[in-house]
Amino acid sequence: PRLCKYSTAAAIEEPIKPAVQVEYTQLLIDGKFVDAASGKTFPTLDPRTGEVIAHVAEGHSEDIDRAVAAARKAFDHGPWPRMTAYERQRILLRAADLIEKHNDEIAALETWDNGKPYEQSAKIEIPMLVRLFRYYAGWADKIHGLTVPADGPYHVQTLHEPIGVAGQIIPWNFPLVMFAWKVGPALACGNTIVLKTAEQTPLSAFYVAKLFLEAGLPPGVLNVVSGFGPTAGAALASHMEVDKLAFTGSTDTGKVVLQLAAKSNLKPVTLELGGKSPFIVCEDADIDQAVELAHFALFFNQGQCCCAGSRTYVHESVYDEFVEKAKARALKRVVGDPFKGGIEQGPQIDSEQFEKILRYVRLGVESGATLETGGDRLGDKGYYIQPTVFSNVKDDMRIATDEIFGPVQSILKFKDLGEVVQRANNSRYGLAAGVFTKNIDTANILTRALRVGTVWINCFDTFDAAIPFGGYKMSGQGREKGEYSLKNYLQVKAVVNSLKNPAWL
Ligand code: NAD
Repeated sequence: PRLCKYSTAAAIEEPIKPAVQVEYTQLLIDGKFVDAASGKTFPTLDPRTGEVIAHVAEGHSEDIDRAVAAARKAFDHGPWPRMTAYERQRILLRAADLIEKHNDEIAALETWDNGKPYEQSAKIEIPMLVRLFRYYAGWADKIHGLTVPADGPYHVQTLHEPIGVAGQIIPWNFPLVMFAWKVGPALACGNTIVLKTAEQTPLSAFYVAKLFLEAGLPPGVLNVVSGFGPTAGAALASHMEVDKLAFTGSTDTGKVVLQLAAKSNLKPVTLELGGKSPFIVCEDADIDQAVELAHFALFFNQGQCCCAGSRTYVHESVYDEFVEKAKARALKRVVGDPFKGGIEQGPQIDSEQFEKILRYVRLGVESGATLETGGDRLGDKGYYIQPTVFSNVKDDMRIATDEIFGPVQSILKFKDLGEVVQRANNSRYGLAAGVFTKNIDTANILTRALRVGTVWINCFDTFDAAIPFGGYKMSGQGREKGEYSLKNYLQVKAVVNSLKNPAWL
């Protein structure tokens, strides 16, 4: 391969040994780590080398049955939904404290299994978990119904009750952040859980789930099953005893799980799916800042973000300067062993994604876009890809319509706001958008006109526990995080109490 003008050759050096051991590789069911019923395991690989980190229990439908039975028992007969909200809150707070205490081991496990920079895991993502569990602990004792005025001699109130057993299916790009977005609100509301991890990244969820047990979570409340989508995932989505399904992953799989849920017991489903988010650089922008933010919006997490700013729309008056500087920034990106300090980009998750991204690069070149830099693998082992920038990208090119999920920036040119709104909205996705401008009127117009679940103005990828996240159109259904996520995990019961006499004599 042709390479490597990047500022590090760490990708081709000996991989650094992570400062953590893999302790848990079995399914967590009813408070115990157990083998899969079949005894089968599957390897989880180090994206830096493609070598096996550990063999992990491969859950199938019989394991999902066992896990759902444990969650059902914990919900129908166990203490969790019955204890006071204050007691639940204290367990969530204790779990957050334990995660904070073990921050570095958890971060190392996450980076080892996923390939993301260790500094990102340790300084951003694991602290996000802690913040999120504390945030939802705060909600646990503030969930309450209403008193409702009715036309007649009735006292009417609503009870906000947990739904029951929540099935949760998560992807590999942010294994623990996705775990937290789902587990936090479900537990705060008093539900029990069967969570299926992504087959590429099963390790960290076991570790954190174990900390929940240490924090006092009763057995069976949080069950974690590793395994593959069409087997374990499908069994969970179609299970008759699962009362609610929350899924994050690709749009195609989202359609499958929605059908499985409908065909089984009509369980309500929330979906967080793919995206092709526009990042709009207006003519008044400070170019250097815009280049840096657009670079971050696309390249963060190796480009493996559902909300990546993967269509960079730049006003024609600053287009050429922007492209030159975006290319220079990509060339400076520090790629290498994610355990090394100062690394901005590690390897992609696996060979499948790696090949897919390189296929899209070839498609970009064939369709006539200008490859400004990158476009090839980096090093000769593992799944490292050069930071890649395309200019002269047109809306109908596959690199502008499809989710690439890799470090490939596509820069498009626009003339005016009306045009860029129409083009930005012309997508089956509607997850997020970035707007870079100093003009408040421009910001207001774009904010209202863009059909997306999040608009970041002069920032990007700002994810606080309190800020709701989710998609318009084929990017999903429902919202996670914030107060909005609570309603995914609550039922409303109306209680109508007949009064002997009207309110006034
Ligand atoms: P994926 O859809 O292949 O897999 C996601 C999860 O679904 C995995 O746990 C997988 O095992 C499971 N799965 C696969 N087939 C299944 C089936 N038939 N039945 C039940 N479960 C099944 O997605 P991925 O490649 O792991 O993740 C990348 C995708 O996730 C991207 O499209 C990305 O945009 C999306 N994503 C979205 C968000 C969001 O919040 N909107 C966040 C992260 C990732």
